[in-house]
Amino acid sequence: MHKNYIDEFLEKDVQLDQSLRPEVFDDFIGQSKIKERLLLFIQAARERGECLDHCLFAGPPGLGKTTLSYLISGAMGTNIRITSGPVVEKAGDLAGILTNLEEGDVLFIDEIHRLNHIVEEYLYSAMEDFKLDIVLDKGPSARSIRLNLPRFTLVGATTRSGLLTSPLRSRFGMINRLNYYDANELQKIILRSSGILNVVIDPQGAMEIARRSRGTPRIANALLRRVRDYAQVKADNRITAEIADAAMNLLDVDSKGLDEMDKMILVTIINKFGGGPVGINSLAVAVGEEKDTIEEVYEPFLIQQGYLKRTPSGRKVTRLGYEHMKASAPDDLNDLLQDQLF
Ligand code: ADP
Repeated sequence: MHKNYIDEFLEKDVQLDQSLRPEVFDDFIGQSKIKERLLLFIQAARERGECLDHCLFAGPPGLGKTTLSYLISGAMGTNIRITSGPVVEKAGDLAGILTNLEEGDVLFIDEIHRLNHIVEEYLYSAMEDFKLDIVLDKGPSARSIRLNLPRFTLVGATTRSGLLTSPLRSRFGMINRLNYYDANELQKIILRSSGILNVVIDPQGAMEIARRSRGTPRIANALLRRVRDYAQVKADNRITAEIADAAMNLLDVDSKGLDEMDKMILVTIINKFGGGPVGINSLAVAVGEEKDTIEEVYEPFLIQQGYLKRTPSGRKVTRLGYEHMKASAPDDLNDLLQDQLF
């Protein structure tokens, strides 16, 4: 399977994530609407002495869903318990987690769209009534017991909100869709991270990294570390715009943050499928990447940047997509693209 830097950068680096993760809402940059809404509901819940309504965060990886769930538990003054959809395999696993919670705790379920449907059904009554009906034994001796649970806040995160069933979705009091960050916001995040990592960087250097971070804080932080390595060896530990540019050219991060796989997707659609429309399955086979990864990671960014569009009959490269590839693709691609463009 093709492995490139985006896959690698989006892998959760637990230590780095923890050291750079904002610990208070004030340090959480951007997503101002979501922040404002959360702070309001948190204050209201605290004043009433209740726990916060269940809340769902949807959006591509690395945009701050886990971070927000930590911030909620911090602001509510409660514990947080972290798990993920595929890990909770059986109803018994869920019962174990829920019965160990304390009153008001936050339960964070990452990739909640990947819960299996039996577990999901148990979750309904847990979310709604804070009760869990567990069936013991099978056949004629089967009986069910009802467990009373502490009141808790479920925070769900999903990269694929479209795959969430409507009964589950409807049980969340708040649904928040996280957007890609703009370059100014990412610049702030990079400057903050540089302070924590003791990296000397000027604002232009931070902006250069920001522009090429695919709107994603986790990528911005990962790129910052790579550029720091480059600056250490080649530039006296100081990151300027020129140094950042040279380092990222070496990493094959293009001027708009597209990586090899992004480009491969665009070029493949242009060359092999006449610019589209092409179905996701054919595209996945043609570029040698998993369908889910294309849908969760690559496609949303390419669409948001205006390089790709989704039509009922499949994906199509836009004029902008053609133009960007023409400008940034290596010479051999340029030759191929000429035929298509003119
Ligand atoms: P997700 O759960 O959506 O995949 P995370 O919450 O794990 O993303 O975020 C990845 C990293 O990016 C965090 O460790 C944090 O350092 C950084 N980050 C995310 N959002 C922000 C933000 N709004 N401000 C500052 N840093 C952020």
